[in-house]
Amino acid sequence: MTVIAIDGTFASGKGTLGKGLSAHYGLPYLDTGKLYRAAAKRVLDAGDDVDNARDAARAAKAISADALSDPILKSGPIGAAASRVSVHPEVRAALFDFQRNFAASGGVLDGRDIGTVICPDADVKLYVTASQAERAKRRHAELTGYGENLSVEQVLSQLIERDTRDSTRATAPLKPAEDAHMLDTTGLGIDEVLQAAIEICDAILSR
Ligand code: C5P
Repeated sequence: MTVIAIDGTFASGKGTLGKGLSAHYGLPYLDTGKLYRAAAKRVLDAGDDVDNARDAARAAKAISADALSDPILKSGPIGAAASRVSVHPEVRAALFDFQRNFAASGGVLDGRDIGTVICPDADVKLYVTASQAERAKRRHAELTGYGENLSVEQVLSQLIERDTRDSTRATAPLKPAEDAHMLDTTGLGIDEVLQAAIEICDAILSR
């Protein structure tokens, strides 16, 4: 049962890499950010408060797999709300079993705390990042594709806010696991990132 854990910063390319590794190794893929995004959407739809731990935990407990395919989850406002919902330990606890159950039969999971909290025994741990300027440019292109109208500067300032919140929260902050392999994707194309990751994975998995 092979588990590949991918953590990293916002818009670092970890989702694209996760899908690529999933296809390459024939393993199921879970974008765990979608769980937090789905919980955030549920809080907002109910007219509740994303900063209220009880409201957020109630929403997180109600999340099931079919809530994860809604395309609205990828929007900028839902992502920002997800980052606020995810600071509550009650929310993280409510989403823990879903992620563990997924990983139990092997898979590729990407998120912020996969190698540190969800799958500390993963076979391969990757930590993906890129410069803030490059991530802002990539995310700007993605949001523009969804029809959102923001400048690169606005995306950059949201990204800095998100990096800070994700890495300074008390519970399960974004940080590389001690045994994670670092992958800086600045200046690399999608195929180059995938090749670099496959080399790391093959070296570990063939041992
Ligand atoms: O990766 P994505 O941008 O979809 O994640 C949205 C937010 O959900 C992140 O900014 C982070 O705060 C939170 N998240 C998390 N732990 C995960 C995945 C996402 O806290 N494993």
